[in-house]
Amino acid sequence: MTRLTFLGTGTSTGIPEIGCHCPTCSSTDPHDHRYRASALVRTKDQVIAIDCGPDFREQMLQNHVEHLDAIFLTHEHYDHVGGLDDIRPLFREHKPCKIYAEPNVIEAIRTRMPYAFTEHRYPGVPDMQMIPITPGEPILLSGETTVLPLRVMHGRLPIVGFRIGDLSYITDCKTLPEETYSAIKGTHTLVVNALRTYLHPAHLDLDEALEVIAKVHPRRSYLIHFAHTFGTHNQIQARLPRDVYAAYDQLTIDVP
Ligand SMILES: [Zn+2]
Ligand SMILES: [Zn+2]
Ligand SMILES: [Zn+2]
Repeated sequence: MTRLTFLGTGTSTGIPEIGCHCPTCSSTDPHDHRYRASALVRTKDQVIAIDCGPDFREQMLQNHVEHLDAIFLTHEHYDHVGGLDDIRPLFREHKPCKIYAEPNVIEAIRTRMPYAFTEHRYPGVPDMQMIPITPGEPILLSGETTVLPLRVMHGRLPIVGFRIGDLSYITDCKTLPEETYSAIKGTHTLVVNALRTYLHPAHLDLDEALEVIAKVHPRRSYLIHFAHTFGTHNQIQARLPRDVYAAYDQLTIDVP
């Protein structure tokens, strides 16, 4: 069994947006408070985070996470990697943090955090072991846990999603190549991004996300990476067909 906790379900600005007084940003419903997109996945013997955005510290504290075996990065946009410096307390007494990402993402992080990769590092800087991944090539984390990186297109930027057992997690996607549809065939639970109701060049909108879901035909789907312009949690959920749910922060689901 795989257990997924949604650590963040908002787009890059989070919800509420700074300075916005729209009904979503003013909502008092806790479902309408959304951190930047990230997920915690617990398998039989591994605890992993997918993405490590600027809300990482709060997400770890809120969910009482005291241990991570690895972090998997979908892409280098700040809302998905901006919390990497905050991994320090989690790995203080342990081995370096294993960070799995595509080579271009590793390069981007080395450029943005040079202090963490110099030869004589300041004591206490994040200790990251960067491990390159390739879409379609499974990573055997342990005897029980395999992670398959999936190619998806974030507009014109190639990024990755992940399949872990019968769970497929895709964020910041606009289109999926046919090989990814084949790779996620038969998935029980699909998590996919749906930014808002109207077109965006680099993100699936609601209609497009529902088309992806209809093609993959999982048992159930959860939408993530919402903009405040999509509406409140209740308004989003009211638009969704059967077996499609609006995810919210701290929702935990079990995938058989
Ligand atoms: Zn994003
Ligand atoms: Zn707003
Ligand atoms: Zn992005």
